[in-house]
This record gives sequence, structure tokens and C-alpha cells, in this order.
Amino acid sequence: MTTEELRESLLMKPKNGLRQLTAQQREEMETYCKGYMAFIDACKTEREATAWAVREAEKRGYRPFVPGMDVKPGDKIYYNNRDKAIALAVIGSESLAKGINICAAHVDSPRMDIKPNPLYEDGEIAYFKTHYYGGIKKYQWPTIPLALHGVVYRKDGSVITITIGEDDNDPVLMVTDLLIHLAADQMQKTLAKGIEGEQLNVLLGTEPLEGEGADLVKLNIMKLLNEKYGLIESDFLSAELTVVPAGRCREVGLDRSLLGAYGHDDRVCAYAELDALFAVENPTKTAVCILADKEEIGSVGISGMQSQFFEHFVGGLCDAQGVKLSDCFANSFCLSADVSNAFDPNFPEVSDKRNNSLLNYGVAICKYTGSRGKGGASDASAEAMGHVRTTLNNAGVIWQIATLGKVDQGGGGTVAAYMANRNIVTVDAGVPVLSMHAPIELVSKLDCYETMLACKAIYLA
Ligand code: MN
Ligand code: MN
Repeated sequence: MTTEELRESLLMKPKNGLRQLTAQQREEMETYCKGYMAFIDACKTEREATAWAVREAEKRGYRPFVPGMDVKPGDKIYYNNRDKAIALAVIGSESLAKGINICAAHVDSPRMDIKPNPLYEDGEIAYFKTHYYGGIKKYQWPTIPLALHGVVYRKDGSVITITIGEDDNDPVLMVTDLLIHLAADQMQKTLAKGIEGEQLNVLLGTEPLEGEGADLVKLNIMKLLNEKYGLIESDFLSAELTVVPAGRCREVGLDRSLLGAYGHDDRVCAYAELDALFAVENPTKTAVCILADKEEIGSVGISGMQSQFFEHFVGGLCDAQGVKLSDCFANSFCLSADVSNAFDPNFPEVSDKRNNSLLNYGVAICKYTGSRGKGGASDASAEAMGHVRTTLNNAGVIWQIATLGKVDQGGGGTVAAYMANRNIVTVDAGVPVLSMHAPIELVSKLDCYETMLACKAIYLA
């Protein structure tokens, strides 16, 4: 063999996915991304994503899970975990004892949550106190338009949903920053300290009511909230209100190859999973899609992936077939669908370029996450990686390998470890992201589309 032939037959030749698509695939990619843009605009919180999934599932004949219900092949069933997370299943022709094919993403994203006693006035300006949720660079959040999303459980027991700042006619909210002219001290601080957590106070208004007192602006804000939503101040004690970047997903780049939006991590994988599941009819193995909450703070809590809600759901399905849940889990596979860090030429020093995911090279398969000596990683086996490799290759999915930065640079985790703890073979995979956890994150349309195709291949494997 010549050297060229050896190179051809022995070495990998990664190729930009955009140079591999047919005209028809490009069209499908654009159509898919239009659907994703509508989803990400409508779903900026885990509650909104869960509500969207319930609505779309019911349109397609999915029924709510009820313990003791009949479960037949072809059935479509969903379990709404308290409006904050959801699992959906299409029942396979094979027994659940043979295992299920799972895709698991999360629908929470970093943001600023409103504190339980949030409303105050200072300098004749009214504010909300916030507590950031998940990993954010705090300096990125001032001076951008912000929106308020969430629910309030009122004194009379009624629950109302609030969204302010997304409609073009809505006002937006904002956190201020110091003018550069007086920032001599601030500019000497580290990025971590330039804006501190207790400075992430969201400006609500400046107009005082008539009368006497030091709370006339605050009182006016409370009056407005009372007129529109029937709120009194103590209602904040039983509320889940959150502040997120206002505005819609936009195409980015002169070639429109990227999408910029808040919360791609991880709703870009959540949508991929859902869209893929909705195309699954009468599978051999049962296909299960999970949209989990609380990943950004450790998958904790009743709506996080460490919660037993998943056992309650799949256990209930197993009961209907007389199958032991532990047998089902032992034979199952999970694609932990979460985003990876796309290689950023502005910051090459944090990556091992040979092992980092690239924009437009397809869904990024990640053998392990974690930090230091793989600490906290699920670390998929050769066999698990082989299963994914074969499945995606057979389905013609464009995919690449990913690691989370160079050794000892930092790290992170996903729901993978918690799925593996259940005795489920698990591999991480997802969409590469630039500016991850920033108010606006970037993904490539091609990688979004290929991640959906990967989920579909896994459900049908
Ligand atoms: Mn994530
Ligand atoms: Mn994240």
C-alpha cells in the first residue's frame, strides 16, 4: 500500500457536517430549526418546557400516567412531575424486561431567581432581590433586557402564571452596572468579584405614589402587581419567580448558520429528544424521553434526576407487564443528552483541540465529564461507546467526540451519573455550545439537527 492508501484506510478524517448534507437534508435541518426556535422562545423555564411537552404530547395521543393503568404495545404515556419535569414513553412490542431506550435532557437553565422577600426601595428606585441559580458569570447579567417568568401561589390558594418582558409591548427589567467613569476600584477586581451576588438587584420602577413615606415607589410597584395579578407582598413568600434574558432566538452569522438564544443548555437537547420521540410509532423496545429539572444545581430535589419520580413512572409501567423494575433498568440504555463546550478559537488554551467538540461536526459524544482525575464522571465503557458508535453510524448520523476542556482546567457533570447509578448503561451526547451559561448562547443548526437524528436512532436501537 502507498502512504496515501494507508492514510486513507487507517486514519480518521473528520469533515465539517455542512459539507456532507444533501440539499434535502439542508431543507429538513432548516425546518427542524424553525420548530426549535419557536420552542425555545416559548420555553424559558422548566415549567414552560414541561407545559409545552404536555400540550404537544396530548395532541399526539399521549395519555397521563396513572398507577395501575393498562399498558399495551404502541401506547403513548406521559408522567408530569409536578409541572416541573416530565417523562414520556412509547411502549414497545418487546417486554419491558428487555430494557428501554432512554434519552434524558434537562429543561432548567442558569438564571436569577427572585428571593422569598424580594421587593424593596432604595434611592427612590424599587428593586427585586435575586439569588442566582446555577453557574453564571455574574458580570454578564447587568445592562441586558430581562423578563420575569414564573408562578405565584396566592393567599387564597389560587395559582397564577406571570410572564412580563417577552411581548413587544411589555416593559423589560434590568440590572444596572457602574459607569466606567467611576469604576476605578471595580476595574481592579477579578471578573468573579466585579459584580457580586447581592448586586444582582433587578430594577422594577421609579415612580412614587402621592403621599408621605420612604416606600412610595415600592408601594406603587405593589399596587401595579395587585391591579394586574391580585398580588399582595406576602404572596412572594409562596412564589417561584425567575428573571431570564428577554427576547427571542435569532439566527447568528451572515450565513445564518448559528442560533443565538437564552437556555440552549439544555433545552436544545430537550427539543431534540421530544421531536425525535414524536416520530416514534410502535417501537420494538419502549422509548422513553426525560426532561428533568434541577440539573444546573446538581439534579437534586423532587424534580431533579436523583428523585425517585423516574422509578415511580417506569416502575408503574413495569407493574402493568408483571416485570421487575430492576430487570428493566439492568437491560436499558440511556443517552444523557446534554450540551458540550464547542471549541472557541478565542480561548484555545482551555481545550485539548484533538478531543474537543467543534461547531458543525455533529452531535458530540462524551465518554466522560467530571473534573480532575475524572472525578464525578460516569465514564462510559468501551462497549457503551461502541453501541452508540454503531447505532449512529448505521443511522447515518453526523457525530464527533467531545471532552470538557483540557485536563485539570475545570469540569462539570450531567444527569449521566444518576442514570448510571440506576444500573442503566449511559453515554453523554449533545449539541456543542459557544458561550455556555451566558445570557445568550450559540449553537449551530447542523448540530441541533444531528442531535435530533441521534436521539431518534437511540430510541429505535
Ligand atoms: Mn446542561
Ligand atoms: Mn449547564
